[in-house]
Amino acid sequence: MRELCFATNNKNKVAEVSRMLEGQYKLLSLEDIGCHEELAEDQHTLEGNSRQKAQYVWEKYQVNCFADDTGLEVDTLCGGPGVYSARYAGPQRSDSDNIRHLLRNMQGDENRRARFRTSITLYLDGQEHQFEGIVNGRITTEWQGDKGFGYDPVFVPEGYDRTFAQMSPEEKNAISHRGEAIRKLVEFLKTH
Ligand code: IMP
Repeated sequence: MRELCFATNNKNKVAEVSRMLEGQYKLLSLEDIGCHEELAEDQHTLEGNSRQKAQYVWEKYQVNCFADDTGLEVDTLCGGPGVYSARYAGPQRSDSDNIRHLLRNMQGDENRRARFRTSITLYLDGQEHQFEGIVNGRITTEWQGDKGFGYDPVFVPEGYDRTFAQMSPEEKNAISHRGEAIRKLVEFLKTH
């Protein structure tokens, strides 16, 4: 079976994609390929960051690999926090600080439109391919739900009246930005 590395240190993400690729590709973690470093992601776009991580692993370890990067893009914040979503409220990368900061910056805004966007870059036999997943929705004024992570407690996807934090992982994956990007990646890999 062909091997493919997911350039992330998030074990939950590796397990999730591994299930989707069963029988086609053996998914390897960074640890599996002997990479124990924190990968740099200091570009100014999601595409730039996913490319930076995948390209680094391909060039240094010569293994087929992919990397992802996600951001929350809010209309009234001109697409922010975007690529800076993880450290929106500071370098401590705290989900609750980030949400408080977001709700404060959106106080009084009637337009609550936002989207999550995921970029995936794949390096397969040295060739680069990119995939994108988007879910549109709105930012609530109050926290609702305790599942998920990140901005889930304040994001309601379009067509729903519950936040991502009020949904099971299966329900969220079926409509989420990352779910869509990963499904596109998996479809591509089926034919390559
Ligand atoms: P990452 O690229 O997956 O590490 O995501 C960067 C940041 O975006 C995270 O630290 C979260 O703040 C936010 N984020 C990414 N995906 C999600 C999600 O599915 N729900 C809520 N927040 C997310």
